[in-house]
Amino acid sequence: MKHIFLAAAVLAAPLLFSVNAPAAEPMRALIVDGQNNHKVWPKTTQMMKSYLEDTKLFTVDVATAAPRGSDPNFKPEFGIYDVVVCNFGHGAARWPAETEKAFENFVGDGGGFVVVHAADNSFPDWTAYNEMIGIGGWGGRNEKSGPYVYTNNEGDLIRDTSAGRGGNHGKQWEFPVVVRDREHPITRGMPVEWLHAQDELYDQLRGPALNMQILATAESQVTKRHEPMIFTVKYGKGRVFHTPMGHAEYSQECVGFITTLQRGTEWAATGKVSIAIPDDFPTADRLSSRKYDE
Ligand SMILES: [Zn+2]
Repeated sequence: MKHIFLAAAVLAAPLLFSVNAPAAEPMRALIVDGQNNHKVWPKTTQMMKSYLEDTKLFTVDVATAAPRGSDPNFKPEFGIYDVVVCNFGHGAARWPAETEKAFENFVGDGGGFVVVHAADNSFPDWTAYNEMIGIGGWGGRNEKSGPYVYTNNEGDLIRDTSAGRGGNHGKQWEFPVVVRDREHPITRGMPVEWLHAQDELYDQLRGPALNMQILATAESQVTKRHEPMIFTVKYGKGRVFHTPMGHAEYSQECVGFITTLQRGTEWAATGKVSIAIPDDFPTADRLSSRKYDE
């Protein structure tokens, strides 16, 4: 009798564990990649995939375009996903017209979209893409692309229509990120200022910048402006989360980057954030990174 009881307890254990698991099916995320001037892109795709899967909120697929030219076979089924993360970069060839249209419909109809680092270099001539990312750089972007966007000292959004190139960065450094909106689900609970691991600080990004909300900035050593580091864009019914951070693997190992990516992706997918700020989140005077274990 005693043995039977023990066996029953062992059998029941997995059921007890399952009480703590998320009740709903995980959401589906898709990372798109394949062409990026950052040669580390296959690794950063895997890093972002594991960061998202670590939350237990997502299962993550990857769709990779052919390495050169427009890939006629690049036709991800966007509609089965809750959110798409872009890891394309500078110089990426346009997608087939039907794929671009399908993606515009996906986001416009309420899909989530996440833009990381050089993804805002991609596709300077794709009008809808530029509306989705809000602001971008390089690829011939200039005053015809839209205003420069940054904040003043008080955090008010400035739209600067002066002429000039779009996209620049100084030498990589460990820079403070200043949270400008402490009520938004993505940034709520973050320290007002936190130190980001070594990265490029993009400056002079410009674009349509419609329906754009800046949540955090960093002061550029080049422009002396408070450049957007965490921001959102509304595109149709869709939510876009954009961070220009994330140049290299050491940049993406920053707990600030990881948490921002996880929360931004959940927000893009659902409009809400349930992921907590972890105990090892960086502070104003302390960097915090997690070595990525392949
Ligand atoms: Zn870079």
